[in-house]
Order: sequence, then structure tokens, then C-alpha cells
Amino acid sequence: MISMPTRLPQEILKTVFGYDSWRPLQREIIDSVLSGRDSLAVLPTGGGKSLCYQIPALVIEGTTLVVSPLIALMRDQVSALKAAGVDAVFINSSLDLDERRGIEMRVRAGEVKLIYAAPESLSGDRLLSLIDTAPPGLIVVDEAHCVSEWGHDFRPEYRTLSALRGRYPRAVWLATTATATERVRADIAGSLGLREPAVFLGGFDRPNLRISVERKLELKRRLLRFALSRPDQSGIVYCGSRRRTEDLAAALTAAGVKAGAYHAGLPSEERTRVQEAFVRDDILVVVATVAFGMGIDKPDVRWIVHADLPKSVENYYQEIGRAGRDGLPSDCVLFYSAGDVVQASRLFGDLPDEQRRAALARLDSMRDYAESDRCRRAMILDHFSEAHGDRNCGACDNCLSGPRETADLSVAAQKFLSCVKRTGERFGAAHVVDVLLGERTEKVERFGHEALSTFGIGLELGRSGWLALARRLASTGHLLRDPEHSTLSLGRPAYELFASKSPYVVPADLVGLSSGDAGDRGRDDDAGRALGRKRSRRRAAPERSFIRSSEAGGGTDEELFMSLRALRKRIADEAGVPPYVVFPDRTLKEMALSKPTSEAELSELYGVGRAKLARYGQDFLGVLRSASGLDA
Ligand code: ADP
Ligand code: ZN
Repeated sequence: MISMPTRLPQEILKTVFGYDSWRPLQREIIDSVLSGRDSLAVLPTGGGKSLCYQIPALVIEGTTLVVSPLIALMRDQVSALKAAGVDAVFINSSLDLDERRGIEMRVRAGEVKLIYAAPESLSGDRLLSLIDTAPPGLIVVDEAHCVSEWGHDFRPEYRTLSALRGRYPRAVWLATTATATERVRADIAGSLGLREPAVFLGGFDRPNLRISVERKLELKRRLLRFALSRPDQSGIVYCGSRRRTEDLAAALTAAGVKAGAYHAGLPSEERTRVQEAFVRDDILVVVATVAFGMGIDKPDVRWIVHADLPKSVENYYQEIGRAGRDGLPSDCVLFYSAGDVVQASRLFGDLPDEQRRAALARLDSMRDYAESDRCRRAMILDHFSEAHGDRNCGACDNCLSGPRETADLSVAAQKFLSCVKRTGERFGAAHVVDVLLGERTEKVERFGHEALSTFGIGLELGRSGWLALARRLASTGHLLRDPEHSTLSLGRPAYELFASKSPYVVPADLVGLSSGDAGDRGRDDDAGRALGRKRSRRRAAPERSFIRSSEAGGGTDEELFMSLRALRKRIADEAGVPPYVVFPDRTLKEMALSKPTSEAELSELYGVGRAKLARYGQDFLGVLRSASGLDA
């Protein structure tokens, strides 16, 4: 074998991929793999997992086998690699016979560096005997959480992957995933038979995502406004039901936004069509159920809107994670109404007891997130047990909005807590509220609770206000909620509150006391005045916290950017690849700003490697020159 001069990862990063610096942990993971150690990399979506094996693939001897469950993603990754001048192929059920034969010939000829394969095709002998002709030095298991029953996308075929270990004993293994709790991590290492793997845990923070929660009022009108104010930005709207996806997609289309609906009930050709049109920028907005997105590798999704409440913080985080994988600022808006919680919990009705409780608990955390006035980012990081400094993140609605209108609910809180105490700390919030409101329900009478001193003393809040206060008291530790039966008991802070050590102040709108709520809350609002509601300097106007997206530059730069985009789209369509495969947005923005005039200057820019420079350089320089009037 000819000994090749080993290329350095840093050099490959620039010459092949056109990047100057590493994302967090990339370098460490690559070094670990190159040192021959099995590794497990947990990086957030957009963290740059692909490079962690694509670069080693160009350094090590032998091929790199990448197991991925996502057929569409494989195709795009392979297009992107080819555009960067790297020989890669994918093998899955979507290939026709001719394509497959062609690929097999290239693999046999030893031309291929990376082979992407779906897990199910690895159980057949045909693919394996092909791979035998070019044995892998590196085996990558992408989306590795699929191996675990504890993960959210369990795929039984993943369980058989460890058999590859016996067939290719010399290969190093790298497992990658964006979501893994400790339990799932242990499962991945165990099921794949990783040998004392080096584990790399990336942070969950995505500082380029601007996060906000808006009240769900006039959803359709506001969604249209949101999308129309972002012409030529790609976005995804997530909905809880198929019907809503079609309804909103139709409304967007009627307003002139290129949009498509996507849900599991559509024929698979239609789903593929929508997905490809989105990836190729032929449609800009996909209105989807959660079924959309897992197989998508589009780095320039600029915004995510949740039209309905996600079922868990994990789901929510995964879905907003599809925005801004290229690191540029992106907006994530969740439209929330308390009614969504009830709606969503109905879907769990048929589940066996234990699963239903788990599902409800996940939904509870999602609701707490939506209702909280804390920094959204801090809440997400808390959820994933990641440390953070509790500082103002400057990019979520709660950090940006300043102090909210507050209400001193010390007396109401004491009433609620003492009612919990007097009913024996054995009931859930709904019953306690019945007692406070003086409802003579069957349960109230059965337990004789109409005789309690707290019966009917709570008319200052409505039912939903009391329930919101109860949740708040639980989140501040005044109430303890039994996870199994949802019964409430008192925590230590409750006794401090009885002793009147500190006032209990909450955001006024949390319990329906905000002065902005007109009409149906009349009674609560009067009570609010009696309760000493305070007004803060600013109150959220409905659309205020939609954050303006950053502009590419001044007017002319923006025009130039659009011309460059148009060129990119033409090249991409001719080659039958997604536009970002030609160059990501960021490259075009840098071109529009710095206006390079030579290949040397162009190659300095983000995302411009040798292969792309050779292939597309002159075309883009042409547009840049004519824009600056040089060849006029
Ligand atoms: P994920 O971890 O979600 O799989 P990807 O590997 O798809 O992330 O990377 C997301 C985007 O970031 C891609 O467009 C990729 O080319 C880009 N990227 C990866 N590493 C770097 C880097 N070191 N510098 C700049 N861009 C990078
Ligand atoms: Zn914040």
C-alpha cells in the first residue's frame, strides 16, 4: 500500500469544507476517533456532527460506513459531500437497480470514502458482501438514540448493528446523537458494544435561536403576518392535528406565501414532494405535524412557529432545533393557550396507566415552560440538567420584556394552602378549588368539606386562576405534588408563607388578573384591583415580541444577495441538489458584504473549499463583478 501523507484535520476543514474554525467539541471528537478509540458524541442539532466523521473518513485508511435511519438525509449528505469533492455513496431501498449497480462498481473499484446505509439494508448479505470488498476503518452510527427503547425513536433494526463488530473487528466506532439522557447514553454504549467509549457531551444552548411564547389569539392572522414579514425565509409551522396543517397551509398559500402541508396521513409521494420542494427552496414554509423534520438537513431554516403546544420539552427543543443550524439568528415562536393543555391531554386517554402518567408529566413541564416568566433558555437548560449562569440571555421574550405586571397574591396563596391543609393533604388541585369556590360537588359533600372554614372563601379568583396559582405554588415548592396521584401536600415554604415572612408575588396575567384581559374576566379583574395589582412600565402588546430578523446589509447588499441566491438556485436546480449544497446562506452574505473580485479572495470566505471554488467560483465572481460594474 502506498503511504499517503496524512492530511491534518485542520487543513481538511478549510480546503475541503471551507471553514476556518471548529465548533465546540468537533476537534476533540475527531482526535478521539483518529486515536482509535470508540466514541460517543452527543451534540445539539446543528452542532456539526457530520464533520466529526467526514473528516476522519478522509484521514483513515479504508472506508467509513455511516449507518443512518433517514433516507432523505442520506441523499442530501452525499450530494453535499460530492459538491465538496468527496467520494461518497448511499445505499438504501430508494435506489433503482441501475443506480445500485453503478454504486457497487465504484465501491468495488475502491473509489469511495464514505458509504451511507440504512440499518435494515445491513441485515441482508448483499450489502455486507459488498462492504467486505472495502472493509470500513470507521463505523458511524448516526441518530444513535434509535438503538434505545428509552429514546423517543426506537428502531429495532438498530439492535442488530453490534453484529458488525464481529465482521469488521478492526473498525473504530463513533455513535452520534442530539438527544440522549444518561439512560439512553448507557443504552447506546451497551447495545452497540462500544469499548470504553470516550463520551463527549455538547451543551444544549443554542444562542442563535430567539425564543418567545405568545398568547394564542387570532392565530391565523398573526401567522400570516409573521410569514409575510419574512419573504424568502424558510420556516416550519408545527401543528397538533392534520386538519390544522392543511387549514394553515391553505391560508398561507392564499396570502401568497409558498407553503405546503405535511403530515403522516398524506401519500408518501406527496410527503417526499413537499420535503424536497422545501429543501430546494421551491416552497418556503411547511406546515406540519411532528412527523416532519427528522430527515431534513436544511441548515437555513430561519424560523419555527408552534401553532399548538408540543407534547414535551424534548419535542419542543428538538423542533426548534431545526432552525438556524447554520448558526445564523433564527426566530422560534410558540403560540400558547391554556386550552391546548386540556386538548393535548385528551390524546393520552387510551394509554395504559403508567404511560399516561408519564405523558401527562411531560406535558406538565411543557405547560410550565410556556407559562413561566423566567428566561426560556434557562428553563430549557434546566430541563436537560445543564448548568447556566441565570443571566439575562437577551434573546428570549422574558429576558427582553422587562418586568411584567405583577400581583401580590399572598392572601390568595395562604387561602389555597390552608385549604390543602384542612382537606387533609389528600386531594388534587381541582377538588381544593371546588372547596374554595364553594361548589357543592358530590365529592365535597361526601367528605363533608362544605363544613370547612375555607369553604367558599375564594371568590377573588376564577377556577382557571386558582389552578394557575396552584401550579405556581407547586413550582415554587410551596406545594408538593404526588407524582402518582397528583394529590397536593404542603412544602416547607408554605409554612414560611403562613408566618408572613415574604409576600407571594406573581405575574398578573398568570392568574388572569392582567388589565389587558377584557371582557370575560370581569369578575377576576375587579378582584385584581382589590388585590393590589401593580402596573409595570411596559405591558406586552400582542405582537411586540416578534423580533425583527437581522438584515443582510444595506439595500444594495441585499439586492446583491438576492442575485447571488438566484444564481445559486439555478446552479442547484441544474445539478438536482438543494441550494445549500452549493453554498450556505452565510457564504452568500459574506460575498455580498465583502465583494471578492478574485478566486483567492473568494476562497477566504466561509464555506468555500477547493472543489466548490473550482466548480462555482467563476459563476459567482461573474455576478459579483457585474454588480460592482467592473465588466460594464
Ligand atoms: P448536526 O449536528 O445537526 O448533524 P450538521 O453536521 O448538519 O449538524 O452541521 C450543521 C451545519 O453546520 C452544516 O451546514 C455544516 O456544514 C455546518 N458546520 C459544521 N461544522 C462547521 C464548522 N466547524 N464551521 C462552520 N460550519 C460548520
Ligand atoms: Zn432569556
